[in-house]
Amino acid sequence: MPEPPIADAPTNANPLHSGGPCRFCGAELHRIVTDLGMSPPCQSFLSAAELNQMEPFYPLVVWVCDECWLVQLQAYVSAEEIFTEYGYFSSFSDDWLAHCRRDAETQIERWGLDTDALVVDVGSNDGYFLRWFATQGIPVLGIEPAKNVAAAAEERGIPTVTEFFGTALADRLTAEGRCADLLTGKNVLAQIPDLNDFVAGLAVLLAPGGVVTIEFPHLQRLVEGNQFDTIYQEHFSYFSLYTTERIFAAHGLTLFDVDELWTHGGSLRVYARHTDDTSKPVTDRVHEIREREIELGYNSPRAYETFDARVRATRRRLLEALFEFEAAGQRVVAYGAAGKGMTLLNYCGIRSDLVSFVADRNPYKHGRFCPGVHIPVLPPDAIAETRPDVVLVLPWNLKDEICAQLGFIREWGGRFLIPIPEPEIVV
Ligand SMILES: [Zn+2]
Repeated sequence: MPEPPIADAPTNANPLHSGGPCRFCGAELHRIVTDLGMSPPCQSFLSAAELNQMEPFYPLVVWVCDECWLVQLQAYVSAEEIFTEYGYFSSFSDDWLAHCRRDAETQIERWGLDTDALVVDVGSNDGYFLRWFATQGIPVLGIEPAKNVAAAAEERGIPTVTEFFGTALADRLTAEGRCADLLTGKNVLAQIPDLNDFVAGLAVLLAPGGVVTIEFPHLQRLVEGNQFDTIYQEHFSYFSLYTTERIFAAHGLTLFDVDELWTHGGSLRVYARHTDDTSKPVTDRVHEIREREIELGYNSPRAYETFDARVRATRRRLLEALFEFEAAGQRVVAYGAAGKGMTLLNYCGIRSDLVSFVADRNPYKHGRFCPGVHIPVLPPDAIAETRPDVVLVLPWNLKDEICAQLGFIREWGGRFLIPIPEPEIVV
């Protein structure tokens, strides 16, 4: 069936609507990339008692700055609100843990890290990454503001500062003689409300000759892969290499290398050094990816123009599929109560009428309910017990791992529904 024509996109439709000042350069935001409606903080899983109470919802409107092309949300949710009791423990995906171990081993070798070095990880979670340095006898320090998660790190022997990172903490650690030879941050940059203070802090804490490595989902992959579900209240900013270079340069850091990674639907790992440290020349890869982004229009309105229409088309197709299952009397459950699933469910308005429960490995979420849509979260065993006809795989970036783990649903003719980049049934 041909696609029906898409009505005039609402982009920039409301001249009264402004996104406030850009988080990096301060220019007024006028250009909307997509409007995902009102959405609750995606990690606020509710207890049964909380279901009858009011729940905060905030606009999930994505803006792009016409000056520096930083894609961003306004920060309605305070960092304290998100991170003090953070429900996510990184250690729960096997593929992710394997990725981190390989990364640690590569970094140790590439930078010649030994027992005299200090590795600092910002947003260190439960120590899932630093442990691979610690087992080699390399001194480590985690920085993790979520108290429950930091406690888990301390239990496994990873010293952890339970604070938000910025220039204040960096100044204090430096004054104590603790400078980072390797300073890492995995999937933390998006969650920083005060981006300038954070990147300035990296420059302060980095030892002369040291290296910063930061991983973040690549904006180009988000746009090309229609990954609108990776947009949520806790992710304030979305980065191209082009804009990241500008932000780091403003704080005396030069990106000298970059890796393209498969993680989180396509990420960049950038390597930064002090701008005056000329011992590490800027590689061709940095120039190549920057040029590619410029060709694709990420430093102009061009790259962002059709995103909203594609997002709405995906919502329509996903709901059509779910309505068909409902009409046929087929039972649908979901797998993976990660943040990205919460945006998808809330934006599409999918509640327990269409999806009975969400199965997840994280015991913290069991017996709780998804924010906004109030679908219950159960342990993975519930899938074998209830034998659903369809499993909606919310963390589509881990679909191979998940479809292998849940391969047993084929015994009763169960099928998988992968929502992104386009809804697809996998038998
Ligand atoms: Zn800007």
